[in-house]
Amino acid sequence: MAANTGNNRIPVKWVRDKAKAAYTKAEACYICGTTHELELHHFNSITILLEAWATKKKYDISTDDGIVSVRDEFIEEHHDELYNQVRTFCNKHHVALHRIFGKAPPPNSMHKQERWVEIQKAKASGETPTKSLVVGSFFSAFT
Ligand SMILES: [Zn+2]
Ligand SMILES: [Zn+2]
Repeated sequence: MAANTGNNRIPVKWVRDKAKAAYTKAEACYICGTTHELELHHFNSITILLEAWATKKKYDISTDDGIVSVRDEFIEEHHDELYNQVRTFCNKHHVALHRIFGKAPPPNSMHKQERWVEIQKAKASGETPTKSLVVGSFFSAFT
């Protein structure tokens, strides 16, 4: 029996490959409206979702065969997270978001991410963010 050589690829990449075809990127950055260097952001880290899901289902995704055989099921069960809970950003704003929330933002940070995005958007359009947005974001972040 050959030794398990492990993954050739990170499991989440198999999911991205498959799901990517259906991603609909907007035509402009949600925050600043630029049309250059657009990237899709998932409010829910797909890496974290996938790992939690595989653990719960007792699926072995440590090999390429393992992840490929279950990825359709994962995509089906996470339609909202994969296709709806997303925003299109320019590279600059995407990097800025991850600098604040981390490379794989924790699942409970979704609302904070959304608030942050709305504040940046208001700033970019030259408006003063509404008081409730500011209070909600900056103060609740420390509670
Ligand atoms: Zn932008
Ligand atoms: Zn992102």
